[in-house]
Amino acid sequence: MAVVSRQLLEKLPKTDLHCHLDGSMRISTILSLAESYKIRLPADNEDDLKKLIVMDKGCSSLEAYLKVFDVTLLVLQTDEALERAAFELAEDAAKENVRYLEVRFAPILHTNSLLPFEKIFESVIAGLLRAEKRYKIKTGLLVCGMRNFPSDISHMARRLHDRLYTFSDRELSQQLALHTAKVTTRLAQNFPTIVGFDIAGPENGYPAKDFYEAFQEIINSHLSITIHAGEGYGPESIEQAVKYCHAHRIGHGTRLIEAKDDSKLRTLYRYFKDKRIPLEICITSNVQTGAVPNIQKHPIKTFLEDKVRCTICTDNRLVSDTSVTDEYLRMMEAFDVSKEDLYKLIIYGFESTFLPYEEKESILREVEPILKRELFSEN
Ligand SMILES: [Zn+2]
Repeated sequence: MAVVSRQLLEKLPKTDLHCHLDGSMRISTILSLAESYKIRLPADNEDDLKKLIVMDKGCSSLEAYLKVFDVTLLVLQTDEALERAAFELAEDAAKENVRYLEVRFAPILHTNSLLPFEKIFESVIAGLLRAEKRYKIKTGLLVCGMRNFPSDISHMARRLHDRLYTFSDRELSQQLALHTAKVTTRLAQNFPTIVGFDIAGPENGYPAKDFYEAFQEIINSHLSITIHAGEGYGPESIEQAVKYCHAHRIGHGTRLIEAKDDSKLRTLYRYFKDKRIPLEICITSNVQTGAVPNIQKHPIKTFLEDKVRCTICTDNRLVSDTSVTDEYLRMMEAFDVSKEDLYKLIIYGFESTFLPYEEKESILREVEPILKRELFSEN
């Protein structure tokens, strides 16, 4: 039994630091965009489309989970569609009192209409800023390079693949990630919404250190870094993310738990705890991709007891059929989580944002008394 109600959870100020644009659209918007652009989807009504896109418990690998994005990406190829999807995502988050949202997306997956690369970034930022004007929400953008070479879903990648035939897919994906990182650092000078960089896509077989150069570009510009790791591969992948790519946070980090009692990797577990490196925990998604066999086996409670810094995130609001409120509720239904734990987790979220220090401090000053009053007052 959760120690607080859904109504109270919805009311509490929260963060979401791990949320993919292309996995968090409204199903109605996918259908409406497909109609406007005359795009054929594999289903033409909400119920059938939902069955194809929303993951059930049957999906048990990261690779199968990622396949669904081929459908949402069909309609996310114009500036208007990107702006609308970003706005609606921030709007949905604001409606459950997410006060700070970091949205991530991979620009290379949105090049099929030959939109200029910069325009792709700018359209997403425009949507986020429109939501900031209308709602009490602050947003940040994380740009993703792709670990795999996405020649099956990106026309631009396919063209590169055909023309630069002396390069392997591995070399091409490294170069694309480097290009994406360079555009990110350039645009970040004018768009403070851009806060950092990440690599996404399948983890097994695509090591983070292959993208060393892209991360160096980001480090040289003093932007922040988060890296998907410890989801489709073990703690060695997490180690690479911090050791070679200087990650400030880890996307998921679920399998860091395997380092806890491993004689060789025990110090990595301690390193995370001592350096306060946050893990962006996405419980529902972890069950769906098979990173954990079921919710009861998720290491969140152990991380909390061990004082490893964690923050609760959605990953994909549509694909995982979830919200920040749902993630907290599911966690509290599966584990014995006290109000103090809940307070700590929400505060960890605000402390782990990639916002400039003054802005982070200012939001914390605002939300701390609200959380204390709502969670601990007698009435
Ligand atoms: Zn993710």
